[in-house]
Amino acid sequence: MVPRTMAGVTLKNVSKSYAKGNLALSDVSLEIRDQEFVVLVGPSGCGKSTILRTVAGLEEATQGEVLIGDRVVNNVPPKDRDVAMVFQNYALYPHMTAYDNIAFGLKIRRMPKSEIDKRVRDAARVLNIDALLGKMPRALSGGERQRVALGRAIVRNPRVFLFDEPLSNLDAKLRSEMRAEISALHQRLRVTTIYVTHDQVEAMTMGERIVVLKDGLIHQVGRPMDVYRTPINRFVASFIGSPSMNFLEARVDDGAGALSVEGSRFELPQERRAELGSYANRGIILGIRPEHLDLAKDGGLPARVNLIEPTGGDSFVFASVAESSVVVRLPGDADLHIGEEVRLGVDLANAHCFDPESEMRIGT
Ligand code: ADP
Repeated sequence: MVPRTMAGVTLKNVSKSYAKGNLALSDVSLEIRDQEFVVLVGPSGCGKSTILRTVAGLEEATQGEVLIGDRVVNNVPPKDRDVAMVFQNYALYPHMTAYDNIAFGLKIRRMPKSEIDKRVRDAARVLNIDALLGKMPRALSGGERQRVALGRAIVRNPRVFLFDEPLSNLDAKLRSEMRAEISALHQRLRVTTIYVTHDQVEAMTMGERIVVLKDGLIHQVGRPMDVYRTPINRFVASFIGSPSMNFLEARVDDGAGALSVEGSRFELPQERRAELGSYANRGIILGIRPEHLDLAKDGGLPARVNLIEPTGGDSFVFASVAESSVVVRLPGDADLHIGEEVRLGVDLANAHCFDPESEMRIGT
């Protein structure tokens, strides 16, 4: 392949409004490093596609600057930005072979035939679709079509790949295979990549860093496991992780040495006491991941089993704790039945505390 000049992507205080008084993006600043794979994740409508389309030049930022490399591209037309986009609906031309679909973008740029042929065959080799080049899209499976769409992006030799929910149309098994393939492809080509998804599993498994968005605002940027371990607020805590984190109201006692949760008292580990010092005699929100609850012989929270979902290695047990509901991850062979009264031990060293008003994380 032709040597590529690599590039990072920078957004500086970017805001975007499609309609007056309605901000789709609100002062978004983000630095994506050269060769990095960054995933934008958040619920539908949070602004992910708008960021991608603003980088591609398909939307104009209302305010702020977009840079590719060190060049401000706000006024550069999409075709001159040197980015390649892959969408959910692969948009292959139905009357062209896979080869011609991949070659099309180069043909309209009037690239010499021999160079086009070299690029198409190189891309096909990388994607393992050499044998499919003569086929029409209707003769290809969903995964093969997605590979052809990837081929079309790769031959452009772009400085940046933009992926907009590229796997949403595929079934679960194929989706996880393609996830791994796209990650492997990035390992090989090392092209700066921005990948949009609403699926937090996709974000966790693919992103070198993830950007969690809601309502046009960046809530947190970080490596997936860092975000998982130290979510900055209740929204990020509930959005990242599956099943979701459990949230219970709790009260910090006088000397911040203990918590009461739904009528049960828990001694706080030493390192938590200082963090919660200023919350003595006040309420907090306690966040506990399903893997940080387990069955206890005595102590713990009294709970009633409502539903058991065995998934093989793990069983997810849905239970009521007073008026609240929680999910507990137990080993697959856990022997419980619906309606059973149990006690749940809480791993407080790994629990998360949030301010009940601001919903921001308390402590580190
Ligand atoms: P996401 O990709 O996270 O689902 P989008 O970036 O598509 O979110 O949308 C962000 C917000 O901007 C939403 O409130 C959406 O309704 C609005 N929006 C997106 N595109 C347009 C458009 N072309 N015209 C008006 N509003 C839009």
